Amino acid sequence: MSHAHAGDRDLTSVADHLAEILRTIRPLEPTELSLGDVYGLVLAEDVSAATPLPSFDNSAMDGYAVRVADVAAATEENPVTLPVTAEVAAGDTGAYALQPGTSIKIMTGAMLPHGTEAVIPVEWTDGGAARVAIRGKADYGHSIRLAGGDAKAGEVLVSAGTQLRPMHVAVIAAAGRGSVLVRPRPRVAVLSTGSELAEPGAPVVPGRIWDSNSFMIAAAAREAGCLAYRQAIVPDHPDEVLPAIEDQLVRTDLMITTGGVSMGGEHDVVKAALQQLGTIRFGKVAMQPGMPQGFGTIAVAPAVSPEEPRRRRFRRDPYDTAEPSQAAGEERVPIFTLPGNPVSAYVSFQVFARPAIGALQGYDGLGLESVRAELTGPLRSPPGRRSFLRGVLDRSRGLITPLTGQGSHQVATLGKANALVVVPEWVVQLAEGDTAEVMVLPLTLAPWGARKARAVRK
Ligand code: AMP
Ligand code: MG
Repeated sequence: MSHAHAGDRDLTSVADHLAEILRTIRPLEPTELSLGDVYGLVLAEDVSAATPLPSFDNSAMDGYAVRVADVAAATEENPVTLPVTAEVAAGDTGAYALQPGTSIKIMTGAMLPHGTEAVIPVEWTDGGAARVAIRGKADYGHSIRLAGGDAKAGEVLVSAGTQLRPMHVAVIAAAGRGSVLVRPRPRVAVLSTGSELAEPGAPVVPGRIWDSNSFMIAAAAREAGCLAYRQAIVPDHPDEVLPAIEDQLVRTDLMITTGGVSMGGEHDVVKAALQQLGTIRFGKVAMQPGMPQGFGTIAVAPAVSPEEPRRRRFRRDPYDTAEPSQAAGEERVPIFTLPGNPVSAYVSFQVFARPAIGALQGYDGLGLESVRAELTGPLRSPPGRRSFLRGVLDRSRGLITPLTGQGSHQVATLGKANALVVVPEWVVQLAEGDTAEVMVLPLTLAPWGARKARAVRK
């Protein structure tokens, strides 16, 4: 493990911390889901064309199927008139044959009659039903879509590892697949600890604050495509923290706590409680905000599970009746213990947990987009730390304005930001007009509506 700065020997760099997280995370087992439920999920197989696309020669236009020689003399001034012997609509599976000297009326997507050499668009004709006057000639293949013209049989259309967007869903459907193998949507449990926390909506007394972290992190996890559950507030007491975590453990793929991991307070109970559940490294990461970080994997404590086997076990999905393949004590769930200050928690989520959620899906595209922009004002950053400063990015003008109020408790400033200015470890100040790296905060909501997804059994 290398360190960020010679003067801070016990600090881990942001890059090293993230690398260790990504080394630890194992992708979730793929599952077969029907096509209506896969939007936003990551494909776990290559989907290829079983047949050529399109699978038969068909018309690209509404018009008339003809032989090229029969319309060779057609002009605006001297149209060629042909008898219309039949009409073929899309979906008509009948066998039609085009005789020389005649035409067949044909619709877009309809199978080409045998012997068709070109389709004359209806716009070049008088649209006749029994006879048609054609005002232009056409070459071989005109307005014809040949079988395999879009994709060859066996060609890979969507590769494993693709996060499925609407167009991918269309391609998979066009290839005739009703279900595909995808990584399931990660289930994330979010838990905030702190005896000072009150439920928003409840009256608050001096000395207490409303819990914003658990709502924020659950929303951010949904934004990253997860099914996120927010757990009620847990007071700073080991007897409360441990059961609360174990309770969630059995129904999550990833657990995120906030608070209780600062440096050395005896009230930092998350740290103490988690020592009993697994391997978590608590340490300082060379960043601001977000220095105290914990990450590891935990399992239900052996002392708890034998007496009450799967007491609180939730099935992955209502239709999944299979018993888990591993004993309760062996299932290890990755866990982030994020610092309690809301801005620290938010930044830590975006920098570490979001890529980890990608890794659970075998996908490396969840890290925030990074752009470069010109600073509209100066900023400062502590030496040896990578700073993530809240700012407002104007992408069209390439400008980034750092916000005032960068304290890690200043959640109001967070609400105004759409980007984080990233100041490298070795840079202590930047001036107006300097170019800075900017992480763009997610703009759109990722899909997470697959709660009712049905698995397709093979
Ligand atoms: P901690 O990491 O528990 O030492 O908390 C650091 C700071 O963050 C303290 O000022 C806490 O009151 C505050 N904090 C902790 N948890 C939350 C939360 N869920 N929502 C808002 N602020 C919090
Ligand atoms: Mg606390």
